[in-house]
Amino acid sequence: MQQLNNQSKSHQLALLAHARLCAEYGAPFRFFSDKDPLSELVSALLSHRTKNADSHRAYQQLRAALPTWEAVRDAPTADVQTLLRPCTWPEQKAPRIQAVLREISQRCGTDAPCALDFLADLPVPEARAWLESLPGVGPKTSAATLLFSNLRIAAMPVDSHHHRVAQRLGLIGPKVDEKAAHVLLPALLPPGWSAQQLYDHHEALMYHGQKCCFFQAPACPRCVMLDHCPTGQARLNA
Ligand code: SF4
Repeated sequence: MQQLNNQSKSHQLALLAHARLCAEYGAPFRFFSDKDPLSELVSALLSHRTKNADSHRAYQQLRAALPTWEAVRDAPTADVQTLLRPCTWPEQKAPRIQAVLREISQRCGTDAPCALDFLADLPVPEARAWLESLPGVGPKTSAATLLFSNLRIAAMPVDSHHHRVAQRLGLIGPKVDEKAAHVLLPALLPPGWSAQQLYDHHEALMYHGQKCCFFQAPACPRCVMLDHCPTGQARLNA
């Protein structure tokens, strides 16, 4: 295994993983969404532990029947729940989304339309804290809202694939959970990285988790990070 400078080994490893995995999966990646930040927030809440196709269908169904977020906020919860049936736990997600919309309206003034575009004017940590004080919004959802929406703000979400790859590479310890990873993993990257660079990093590690570093039986022999991966080396030598 080629040696990295010990002093900043994790930082160098993160950059090496970025370079190799971005090359492997074809970065720069196109942003998959142009939603406004509130629509992205609702979409992220729907996607929790749900297949993309199912949460997309639930989102489309909701928007078709209730085209404004004020209409979703004020609709009978049972109606929203019915519209969200394609995704998991509609009975939890319907009241949660309505509670989030009510909270946003209250904070912004009851007559104000539901919108989160003002987050673009806040420093990133403040924008994330604002979002994370909403019910059911954690660091992954706040980062996804800022980065994936048309705001394109430099914040990095860590999903389960990204988290697993980072753990196996040794970028974070085996006991670091996803919440803590949202602090530790961005700290390994250059502080001035753009939204596109953070997006590429997240997407590249996520693709690697989906296409090579599988949850069960990772395909280590064909992995471009094998020479720097302690997990892969241990599996190979077992
Ligand atoms: S060498 Fe194996 S465990 Fe390590 S990142 Fe690659 S696929 Fe995952």
